[in-house]
Amino acid sequence: MPELPDLEVAKAVLTRILTGHTIEQVEVGSPILLRRPTAERFKQELTNRSFKAFARYGKFLIFHFEPEAQLYINFMLAGRLKLQSPSTQKQKKMGFRFQLDTGWDLRYLDAKNMGKIYLLLKNEPTSLIPNYDDQGPDAIDPDLTLEIFYQRIRIFNGVVKHVLMNQRFIAGLGNAYADEILFTAKVLPFRKRSTLTDTEIEALYSATKSVLHHAITTITARVGDTLQFEVRDFLQVHGKGGESCPTCGTTISSVKSGVRVANFCRQCQI
Ligand SMILES: [Zn+2]
Repeated sequence: MPELPDLEVAKAVLTRILTGHTIEQVEVGSPILLRRPTAERFKQELTNRSFKAFARYGKFLIFHFEPEAQLYINFMLAGRLKLQSPSTQKQKKMGFRFQLDTGWDLRYLDAKNMGKIYLLLKNEPTSLIPNYDDQGPDAIDPDLTLEIFYQRIRIFNGVVKHVLMNQRFIAGLGNAYADEILFTAKVLPFRKRSTLTDTEIEALYSATKSVLHHAITTITARVGDTLQFEVRDFLQVHGKGGESCPTCGTTISSVKSGVRVANFCRQCQI
């Protein structure tokens, strides 16, 4: 699942290569991916619009168009954006295809068909997007201070990993980066939030910022001007179950919780 660092880097790449360019033609694929408006309206509205700017909030990537309109994409498990030659064979699970004035296609592909795409026109409010306005502060928002983090985390109960992944607490984290933040903060994923000391909450706050900024820097250096959504090989514990902990050498644990796997070090994390 693309998370905050993946989308932050994609936003920067799209800004560099597409700002000012125009969509010449629109094709809609799997209608289940397109939550609003209708496919016909989506095609009509976006044809001949230009990319004005790109933004991100939590796990939503946002396209701002000229004339005014905004496209919100929640990639969920397997959504991807790809720049492809128009001659590239069409994929079945495609949300949309924008034929650009650059001679390339921008395509939204989704092997799981679970992504959610919303187009808002002019002054339509974000309250039309389910759960969007309920999100907490973006995890790398400079206004998210330690004090605010302290205040907000106390509202949420349950295991700490689930609190980190709850978009209403802070927005942008999924399974992979929650594992990394907990490892860096030396906190076990299944601890109850109510058992965390002030020092541990402060460690979680610092780790949230440092892990995400380090990931953005690393992925940026790796991808250049290409769109890649899950560069993850630099992570320390996530996806590394059975390998050695980079800090102490203990075997990294893999514990399945629901549909997700938590990776952590029983020695380094308490
Ligand atoms: Zn360890």
